[in-house]
Amino acid sequence: MKFISEYRDPVTAGNMLDEIRKTVTRPWVIMEVCGGQTHAIVRSGIDQLLPKEIRLVHGPGCPVCVTPLETIDRAIAIALRPEVIFCSFGDMLRVPGSDRDLLIARSLGADVRVVYSTLEALQIARDNPEKEVVFFAIGFETTAPGNAMAIIQAEKQGLTNFSELVCHVLVPPAITALLSSEENQVNAYLAAGNVCTIMGLGEYEEIAKKYQVPIVATGLEPNDIIEGILMVVRMLEDGRCEVQNQYVRSVRHDGNVVARKAVAEVFEVTGQKWRGIGLLPDSGLRIRKRYASFDAALRFDVAGVEVDEPEACISGKVLQGLKRPNQCPVFGTECKPEHPLGATMVSSEGACAAYYKYQPLS
Ligand code: SF4
Repeated sequence: MKFISEYRDPVTAGNMLDEIRKTVTRPWVIMEVCGGQTHAIVRSGIDQLLPKEIRLVHGPGCPVCVTPLETIDRAIAIALRPEVIFCSFGDMLRVPGSDRDLLIARSLGADVRVVYSTLEALQIARDNPEKEVVFFAIGFETTAPGNAMAIIQAEKQGLTNFSELVCHVLVPPAITALLSSEENQVNAYLAAGNVCTIMGLGEYEEIAKKYQVPIVATGLEPNDIIEGILMVVRMLEDGRCEVQNQYVRSVRHDGNVVARKAVAEVFEVTGQKWRGIGLLPDSGLRIRKRYASFDAALRFDVAGVEVDEPEACISGKVLQGLKRPNQCPVFGTECKPEHPLGATMVSSEGACAAYYKYQPLS
């Protein structure tokens, strides 16, 4: 298939892997912060094809996985209200809250609908003026523009029965927090190409300079990732700490200016709790006061719902690259995709789900 097969070509992959083997002389730890990249790495066995000097660790790159437990509980509390139609992308429905998930809420009578875009949720709001339609707006910088545009559209169309329950997280503050940690072992980062497509490279240049780490904006196909690794290994071996762009077919230095403008119009930066990691300053987005009437957390008064994470799950360490999923004592036994204990086993982008599916015994 054109535009896919060339990024999965085994000969190209083999040549780049040879180049990595010739270049590397010392041990390096490289982290990817993108669930799509994590799955491509584990599915293609890239981690097993690299020379032993290179260790790949998987960062907090899955937005479903880092959505805090209380946000799921707030979503369920809103969804169970009789006047509400609750709209969400499908992968959020099975993420466990403290005692149930949205699918169970649906079995209890909640009107929970899977949508494929915010525009679909807006249409449901137009079609059901007697109902309150709430969209579960989660994700990294990649989904924020669409969610911002939905609120702008809702206001333009005079829709008063549409709101969003927002849990947006930002990648650069998470990388900064990991680099500031005393436990940090990471020497270089593969930045998510899809996030950089929206946000550009500027924030990563500041991080690379301040923390002296090479960063490469990298695509999501196997050969993108291998090339990204080759680029960071060359910089590591040369002692260069630059930001480079492997994903040139999508990423521009300033990102998508129109999308960034929409995000800045509707959202403002705020502290955000990450599941398994905790509160990180300036790592999330919330709806600005000007658009407060579209904020479901305020409209339904669930902002005060707080809960603790279950003790058995070590996904916080997995998300920080300190443990591999299969080092979790309950991986593949008490915790499986059919009955997940943590969000990293639920989401199609979660590291635990990727290991369970592709490398359960590695
Ligand atoms: S295997 Fe399950 S319990 Fe263990 S870290 Fe992953 S999600 Fe949590």
